[in-house]
Amino acid sequence: MVIQDWLAEKKINLLSFDSSTLADYANCPRYHFFRTVMGFTKPNWHLMFGAAWHWAMKVMLKSNRYDASTLTQAVTAFTTKFTEELGAANVGWDYFPERVTKIKDPGRVLDFLVEYAEEHKTDQDLLLPYINHNMLEVHGSVPIANDKLMYYRLDAVAELPGDCATVIDHKTGTQLSSNWAEQWEHSLQITLYFYVMQSMFHRWAKALINGAIFRTNDSTYPRCVVTKSIEQLELWLSSVNHLVKQLEVDVAMLNEAKESDLVMHCFYPTQSGSGCSSYGGCRYNDICLAWTNPLQHLNEIPSGYIVRFWDPRATEERIA
Ligand code: SF4
Repeated sequence: MVIQDWLAEKKINLLSFDSSTLADYANCPRYHFFRTVMGFTKPNWHLMFGAAWHWAMKVMLKSNRYDASTLTQAVTAFTTKFTEELGAANVGWDYFPERVTKIKDPGRVLDFLVEYAEEHKTDQDLLLPYINHNMLEVHGSVPIANDKLMYYRLDAVAELPGDCATVIDHKTGTQLSSNWAEQWEHSLQITLYFYVMQSMFHRWAKALINGAIFRTNDSTYPRCVVTKSIEQLELWLSSVNHLVKQLEVDVAMLNEAKESDLVMHCFYPTQSGSGCSSYGGCRYNDICLAWTNPLQHLNEIPSGYIVRFWDPRATEERIA
């Protein structure tokens, strides 16, 4: 199958992107290709749990108080989303390692939420009254150049006293590293929020990272604030546009690529060694090594993968 037909059939627009697809491209163009063009992914307990936690957090932030009724509604929202995600993944619990399912155990969500409510009990006076209910889980697109849009999704916005808005972003994990707070300073996604708030809503903003670190005994719910100067925002915009230009070059080269080529001369695997093995190893390691021209394998689904195409214009992934 020629690549143009594949892209048309799967409704893939490689120049339609959000912060996560662009960050994937920056880290490794071949990873981005496997994820975006071939649609390969693997069932991921952390992502499913994180998506469900977002639903629970939406209920919490929309409430007036962290009382029994709010917690019950939040558990229901979590369970609904988690069940939906597990159904879409089409695998059972035993597919996932016990060390993961035991810690991020959906059966413990009420306990986690009770802990969260206790750790952030001052929210009831200092945060919840200021949540903008029209800006919970909103998504849209923002121009980053004359003819280019970038898609975004905001978890929540609070209008705290003062002259700037606060974008709230939920982050889940199992480890609180020493640089947990610093990593968000460099996040393409977090800086996008500042850009969105300024370009779309003409507001200067800061970000509140609303963490949840789940552990067997001592889960914790850290928060940190990220701010950016106007110069840092300009640097972000310039670097994002630079990345998009590189992406356009790869897309043009992909249009020339053929199934009969020995190797695919675009979306090169630019990670070498350490990048491929970080965070437990790249999920595409096996096919990246075996397939020098992925165009020869467009209709194959390797064992262990599922196919879900990412559409940044939609709120969810779509199943092939
Ligand atoms: S294995 Fe390495 S080079 Fe290949 S897609 Fe993954 S990160 Fe990129």
